[in-house]
Amino acid sequence: MRIIKYETPVPVTGSYDVVVCGGGPAGFIAAISAARSGARTALVEQYGFLGGMATAGLVAPLSVFTYNGEKVIGGIPWEFCERLQAMGGGLIENPLGNVAFEPELYKLCCQRMVLEAGVELYMHSYLCGCECQGGRIEAIFIDNKNGTEALEAKVFIDCTGDADLAHFASVPMQSGEGRPLQPMSSYFVLSGVDTSTPRLQQAMHHNRQGVNCQCEEIRSELLAHREEWGIPEFGGPWFCTTLQPGVVTVNMTRTAADATSAADLTRAECELREQVFKMEGVLKAHFPEFSNSYVSAVAVHAGIRETRRILGEHTITGEEYVSAFRYPDSISRGAHPIDIHVANGPAQNVTFLKTPAYVPYRALYAPGFPNLLVAGRCLSADKTAFASLRVQASCMGTGQAAGAAAAMAAAQDLPVDGIDLPALIDRLRDFGAIIPRFSQPPTP
Ligand SMILES: Cc1cc2nc3c(=O)[nH]c(=O)nc-3n(C[C@H](O)[C@H](O)[C@H](O)COP(=O)(O)OP(=O)(O)OC[C@H]3O[C@@H](n4cnc5c(N)ncnc54)[C@H](O)[C@@H]3O)c2cc1C
Repeated sequence: MRIIKYETPVPVTGSYDVVVCGGGPAGFIAAISAARSGARTALVEQYGFLGGMATAGLVAPLSVFTYNGEKVIGGIPWEFCERLQAMGGGLIENPLGNVAFEPELYKLCCQRMVLEAGVELYMHSYLCGCECQGGRIEAIFIDNKNGTEALEAKVFIDCTGDADLAHFASVPMQSGEGRPLQPMSSYFVLSGVDTSTPRLQQAMHHNRQGVNCQCEEIRSELLAHREEWGIPEFGGPWFCTTLQPGVVTVNMTRTAADATSAADLTRAECELREQVFKMEGVLKAHFPEFSNSYVSAVAVHAGIRETRRILGEHTITGEEYVSAFRYPDSISRGAHPIDIHVANGPAQNVTFLKTPAYVPYRALYAPGFPNLLVAGRCLSADKTAFASLRVQASCMGTGQAAGAAAAMAAAQDLPVDGIDLPALIDRLRDFGAIIPRFSQPPTP
């Protein structure tokens, strides 16, 4: 490849205690958590709205806050859900603790909470690099309408989903990064749907513990007529209510792709858009609920299940996860099944948890990188543990922990692995995070 050197002076336009990169479920909660902990905080987001996969990807519902009726993710993430419900934009589905939502009100609710916390927002700003001294990040570079700008911070949090900042800083990643990766899927919205039928009513409400919420009746028909109807690769289908009459979000397209490759991502976006309209035609032609339906929106961004994850101080293994290993530095939980969609084909391997799992603080940072934390999809977990932790509630839980930890490290000029752990856990409990006081010592 021919290399051209591109050098330009970059103005430092902001200096903060904490800068969070990526405003998805992990990032907007991390920013609120850092700001409420007293840190001067900025949040950088490539789009003109927050919510990440939930809004740009139309990924619904928000999973999963409870296990058999016992709440496991609390604090700021739960406050967000209650506030969204109070605004008429959320429906907390019990006993599973999934939250169906209306995407535009989701955007509004997180934006309000972020701004009320005093976070400075950099929207339409794309993280494109960083300046490092050894493993220490001095500044990040963002591209926006002003050109390229630099933001300095004492501590940075990578919530880009794809671990972009960690990648730019040369943090080692999980070997093989979980290949083959789980497939990408574009969600779409169908309007004009007869949502009153019993099978659609059941499929739209993801509220049953220990059950895959895909619409089994429609899936069997699709599998039986796959060749005859010319159906491409598909998953589910899963339908979710947007709380508006006659409207459902649909998750059924899929393609194997690596979203950290620009070429692959471009191909996937184009292929998935074709699939959306193909699937809409199939549903309309063969299932009476959809006979008057039409595509009223396609996700701005294809849904990304899996890309880069850091090789952290500790990598959560599937074995630890399913046995609910109690780490001394547990800072959040997970209750979603281990949910692995195969790269090619309609299969999905789901293992339901017997008990909710724990997340250690050490999975949020890498040795040798004293001022970088990660949260959400970029955390250090193997493919199995990640396949549960990737859902929104768990991402929010790690965001809450990373935000509070970053604020503590910034306030005391400490490396992220040097903060007072009991004090972090106390702060998280004060927020409402559910971190049990073990009656016996944590698992050795
Ligand atoms: C098909 C599919 C179905 C799913 N189903 C469910 C489900 O039913 N329930 C559930 O809870 N979860 C589900 N998930 C998982 C969940 O949506 C994501 O894993 C979760 O949103 C990850 O949160 P995050 O904050 O880590 O990352 P993201 O949601 O990906 O957010 C990352 C944010 O960073 C921004 N960003 C990225 N790179 C840059 C950059 N370089 N510069 C600036 N900004 C940047 C993005 O725009 C985005 O706002 C599903 C995912 C997919 C793809």
